[in-house]
Amino acid sequence: MDTAAPTLAAGLEALARDGLLRRRRVLETAQGSRVVVDGRSLANFSSNDYLGLANHPALRKAAKAAIDAYGVGAGASPLVSGHLAPHAAAEARFAAFAGLPRAVLFPSGYAANLGAIVALVDRHGEVFGDRLNHACLHDGARLSQARYTRYPHGDVAALSRALEASTAAVKLVATDAVFSMDGDVAPLEATLALCERHGAWLLVDDAHGIGVLGAQGRGTLDHLRLRSPRILYMATLGKALGGYGAFVAGEPDAMDWLVNRARTLIYSTALPPMAAAAATAALALLEGADSPLPALLANIAAFRAACRDAGVALGESATAIQPLVLGTPERAVSASLALQEAGFLVPAIRPPTVPPGTSRLRISISAAHEPRDLLALAAALAKASA
Ligand SMILES: *Cc1c(COP(=O)(O)O)cnc(C)c1O
Repeated sequence: MDTAAPTLAAGLEALARDGLLRRRRVLETAQGSRVVVDGRSLANFSSNDYLGLANHPALRKAAKAAIDAYGVGAGASPLVSGHLAPHAAAEARFAAFAGLPRAVLFPSGYAANLGAIVALVDRHGEVFGDRLNHACLHDGARLSQARYTRYPHGDVAALSRALEASTAAVKLVATDAVFSMDGDVAPLEATLALCERHGAWLLVDDAHGIGVLGAQGRGTLDHLRLRSPRILYMATLGKALGGYGAFVAGEPDAMDWLVNRARTLIYSTALPPMAAAAATAALALLEGADSPLPALLANIAAFRAACRDAGVALGESATAIQPLVLGTPERAVSASLALQEAGFLVPAIRPPTVPPGTSRLRISISAAHEPRDLLALAAALAKASA
């Protein structure tokens, strides 16, 4: 007898009752600042494509050239025979871009965090993580079977006490550099000082800082001028850089260790070479005269100013992620629906992605937005959140 089905049905009903049932909408166009959903064109404030690179001509050209030279698949995991010339080139280019000794490609940011944490700590170790860290840092900590201590968001004093109390042989502190639902920057300088004092690794997840913060978008470590052999720096390719995949960068020994021990790298097919080529093209664009970063920074400033003028109380954020906390899931969902009616795609973010009581609209600003889209959204937000 099938006992799972009634249980799942009940579970789905409960989700629906609590306003937490999710569905995937189909985009009928490429990702971009305007998209078509259900046959309707919407101004898109929902993607992580902060620089408008997901459908950029330079990246498309690089990916097509890589397809012609290397095909569509890597054909093997990196240690077997799936590490092709475009992968090696992208790793070298990223290490230089981030100003770190070496970099290693992973299939995704999720896989990078899981792989790095499990490779570095085992059940004799301890992992310390900010409460608002991305889900994959939590999952990596759990999978490692290490003791796992979560500290209140941004609370360096609590982290200090926890490190002080720890007797673990290997310690690893994991934190988002830019928090994905609030857009605020972690207190990395103080966190690194603690890691150095306690001989802990610091895994910095810069999914939302790479391409956005630092000179030419070199990321949050560059922005804060932080360097240390204790740092493992993780940056994804799926957000500002417009493609797919992730890098972990750091000291040569740490990188060799990951290549030998990170199970998500060893037991998974390498990225399609075109994804590596697109990454290299994105970095070249950021370092060149046609970088889209100045437009992104101008749009963030213009949007915040327009919201201030319209009386919309955004959370404090200098990054592309602009949160408007509304409280209950119902409020966030109804505001999101009202915005969609008005022609804007702005996602409602609910538990478990954010803590209960902090359901919100998560507004993502892109270099590709037109100034008039930003002004119109600020006006629509004032109405929808009133
Ligand atoms: C998106 C994200 C990831 C996962 O990266 P993918 O490449 O999409 O798997 C990891 N950490 C943070 C903070 C993220 O926002």
